[in-house]
Amino acid sequence: MFKLGCHLSSAKGFLAMGKEAVELGANTFQFFTRNPRGGAAKPLDEADIAAFLVFAREQGLLPLVAHAPYTLNACSAKANIRAFAKETMADDLARLEHIPASLYVFHPGSHVGQGVEAGIALIVDMLNAVIRPEQSTVVLLETMAGKGSEIGRTFEELRAIINGVEIQERIGVCLDTCHVFDGGYDIVNDLNGVLELFDRVIGLERLKAVHLNDSKNPLGSRKDRHESIGQGHLGEEAFKRIINHPVLRDLPFYLETPAGGLGYAVEIRLLQQYRNPG
Ligand code: FE
Ligand code: FE
Ligand code: ZN
Repeated sequence: MFKLGCHLSSAKGFLAMGKEAVELGANTFQFFTRNPRGGAAKPLDEADIAAFLVFAREQGLLPLVAHAPYTLNACSAKANIRAFAKETMADDLARLEHIPASLYVFHPGSHVGQGVEAGIALIVDMLNAVIRPEQSTVVLLETMAGKGSEIGRTFEELRAIINGVEIQERIGVCLDTCHVFDGGYDIVNDLNGVLELFDRVIGLERLKAVHLNDSKNPLGSRKDRHESIGQGHLGEEAFKRIINHPVLRDLPFYLETPAGGLGYAVEIRLLQQYRNPG
């Protein structure tokens, strides 16, 4: 089945998001666990979640992807920012247990001059402090564009983080097509080669979700500017190959393009046209 969704605003609650997803033609969605620029999460509305779960099961919307706030930086040089990252992730994971078997995507972090190795050690430290063996959520490291001192641009960095995680069953990767291309992996001309490298370094069994974004910038530019599907440097032919590739086609795909809102419905229809029957 083609699992295709988009990023939705969580302002109106879960049931509203579920209905919006279906209206847009999506069969799954991603949302921010709280304000993307940080801050406290709203209290959980248990009635909303219960109603949502009934609707989501009817419509086949699960599993969902929850995205951590951008401000979460496990490898900041400042202890208070690292503590905020730990508290936020622990709280997000506890809340997500209300929605079974979710995926939780986060940006590994920026080492801000401390160096990649020190940064990776701090990220591992946070993950081991917050991941619980009994949780149903799988935590996903997002592949990053490599802007500034971002960790997670290379598959080797992601592998090094995974190596440090104690509860191996609860850690995976979300591949962002804009980010990997920005990071220098040529998924336009050599998708097979990039996926083979991913398998050798990380292992394809770790890959649990794909963020589907075109890029405003060329290969290796490390800028992280998303573009609408087919309008950027990846182009529509690349997306046809990506969503139909045998190792990717059974994963859930999530749009995070500037199309947004009703624009997502147009992109979803387009991608459904690109999809070959299994
Ligand atoms: Fe992200
Ligand atoms: Fe992304
Ligand atoms: Zn991005």
